Amino acid sequence: MRIVRAVTELRALLAPERRAGRTVGLVPTMGYFHDGHLSLMRRARADNDLVVVSLFVNPAQFGPGEDLDAYPRDERRDAELAAAEGVDVLFAPPIEEVYPEGFATTVTVGRLTDTLEGDEAQRGAEHFQGVTTVVTKLFNMAAPDVAYFGQKDAQQALVIRKLVSDLDIPVRIEVCPTIRDEDGLALSSRNAYLSPAERERALALSRSLRAAEDAVASGTRDAAAVVAAARAELERAGVEPDYLQLRSASDLSPVERVNGSTLLAVAARVGRARLIDNAILGGEQ
Ligand code: AMP
Repeated sequence: MRIVRAVTELRALLAPERRAGRTVGLVPTMGYFHDGHLSLMRRARADNDLVVVSLFVNPAQFGPGEDLDAYPRDERRDAELAAAEGVDVLFAPPIEEVYPEGFATTVTVGRLTDTLEGDEAQRGAEHFQGVTTVVTKLFNMAAPDVAYFGQKDAQQALVIRKLVSDLDIPVRIEVCPTIRDEDGLALSSRNAYLSPAERERALALSRSLRAAEDAVASGTRDAAAVVAAARAELERAGVEPDYLQLRSASDLSPVERVNGSTLLAVAARVGRARLIDNAILGGEQ
């Protein structure tokens, strides 16, 4: 596996491959790999001739009070894990390679980005601006045939699909299932912040989603009733959600009833960690 720092080097490496008709799969990440990241790499490995994983903790998607400085990093371990998955290129640029002096452009996706995580009371629309700007750059740098994202960040996946469709970016987007620990906790680099007791409380998020799934499976369709079933699980653990919302899984518009595919999205702070999770209810996952 090659570790690449410069865009020119990445392009020089990929150009002959592409000319030879080989496909390129890209997995954008912020590192500190867990099985969620590795599942995307495996999928990319199975689908493509060449797999590029980007590792860049993107300052533009962190707000002023957020955990940019504390965000866990271990490039050496990440490189070993990626190599073991058969990744061809780990693209780990320094900040100045991505945002050189005088950088002045942002890419903004409208509508989907001012709600849930993008609500001003949450991370704000600037968070998604940071994501869509860096992802656009990564698409231009690596020109992948396919890029892989996790359903764990359901809103992000929708925003990226919209970005690619609105700007005619020639890449196929694949969204892969959320990987969980055996006890249900969705894997996240931020789980590293949790003490054992906090980790126990954090299980309330996935439990609340399961309670909602159970309610739907037993015939409940009314949004308020489904949300109440989920909320009860959070309350039992003393977890106050930042939001707990049922939305259309295709455009995030509010729904009154669970029908077809409906997204239940939850965010909550547990100790130092701000955690998110979601489930698709009443449809195919
Ligand atoms: P991150 O490094 O947290 O920015 O995540 C990089 C990619 O991995 C994103 O597309 C995430 O949605 C995805 N991802 C993160 N956690 C999980 C998980 N538990 N299961 C599946 N994908 C995940």
